[in-house]
Amino acid sequence: MNDQGGGSMNRGDDMHGFDRRQWLRNAGLGVLGLGVTRAAEAADDAVCAPKDGKLLLQDFRPKSMLHVPETHVQKARYPVIDVHSHLTWTTRAAKGVSTGEEVTFNTTPKEALAVMDRKGIRAMVNLTGGTGKGLARTIAAFDQAYPGRFFTCAEPSYGELLDPRYPQIQADAIEKAARVGARGLKVLKTLGLFLRERISEGPLVKVDDPRFDPMWEACAAHKLPVFIHVSDPEAFFLPIDCTNERWDELGHHPDWSFHGKDFPSHQAIMAARDRVFARHPRTSFVALHVGHNAENLAFVSASLDKLPNMAVELGARIGELGRQPRTARKFFERYQDRILFGTDAVPPPDGEHYPQQVFKDELYEVYYRFLETEDEYFDYAPAPVPPQGRWRIYGLGLPDAILAKVYRDNALRVLGLPS
Ligand SMILES: [Zn+2]
Repeated sequence: MNDQGGGSMNRGDDMHGFDRRQWLRNAGLGVLGLGVTRAAEAADDAVCAPKDGKLLLQDFRPKSMLHVPETHVQKARYPVIDVHSHLTWTTRAAKGVSTGEEVTFNTTPKEALAVMDRKGIRAMVNLTGGTGKGLARTIAAFDQAYPGRFFTCAEPSYGELLDPRYPQIQADAIEKAARVGARGLKVLKTLGLFLRERISEGPLVKVDDPRFDPMWEACAAHKLPVFIHVSDPEAFFLPIDCTNERWDELGHHPDWSFHGKDFPSHQAIMAARDRVFARHPRTSFVALHVGHNAENLAFVSASLDKLPNMAVELGARIGELGRQPRTARKFFERYQDRILFGTDAVPPPDGEHYPQQVFKDELYEVYYRFLETEDEYFDYAPAPVPPQGRWRIYGLGLPDAILAKVYRDNALRVLGLPS
């Protein structure tokens, strides 16, 4: 399981290991989910002339008639550290919980370096480096083979949760991960939304469960920042109906819906997360996807104000930031030392399922355009239909001093690297 998507999971964060058809059946969404997918595919050769005066939503692809500047930003103004990518991930998962130590490489270091060199990316942080032997293999192939270009994070293992010694076992695993060269810990929304008391059954384990306290403390002791993603866009917690602004996205990825069943509310997860941050003030936390609440920058600001050990990252959320450019610009000005550049990049072919995250040149060009220019009303992802919601975005035109911090300097500090 990964976390992508609307910050959700993508295969990386979400789906992998899932039997999607089974899920659709269980959720009673089979018809809707598959219907939407087929419709979107068919829309690639959509017949534009409406029949009987009616036009289906999936055939609607309005072209903007605005005559405004279009800036093509090939390279960022400063060297970039992308702190959110999934160059590898754990191969197996059951009901959203990764199992085993086997790791799948989604790209080769050489292929990744080609994109990085073209786009001015100095280093990538590969969050889903896995555990145990798989983690060591990832670090050897990426970090050690190309020093300074890749930094790999470890992940928790949940398989021994039922062992009363689990809190110490997991803390020891952090120490071991640091020794083999991990540069941080990634926590997927497995914690909070998938992990249950008996791993795949029973009540959901809460984000602030005290069994993880030794793990958070071990991260502080070994200077590993925690990259955490425990909740998703607010729309993912609402019914998938005609009022849901992420209807297309949830139609493509119905497993990203956390509406109903025994899922906690978005607000309950965020409150539990903030309690963890407050309880472990020596631990450095990077709340991914703009603190998992890019729709509510006032809430994210309140968390940042009360939690000095918290930073945020941008991955897969320029769609949200760019549709509120005035509020977002003020957010960047105020928290310019605590915002890290990240994209949630997933290499193709898996990444193609998430156009807002596919690891290729065009992805970075959109981010650079958003941060650096004052262009208006442009697509936030390289896709024919805006994949997260049907809107477009506006550039922030950030000044050089803020760009240098967001692109590079804040990541260097959080990762403990020399400037
Ligand atoms: Zn991710």
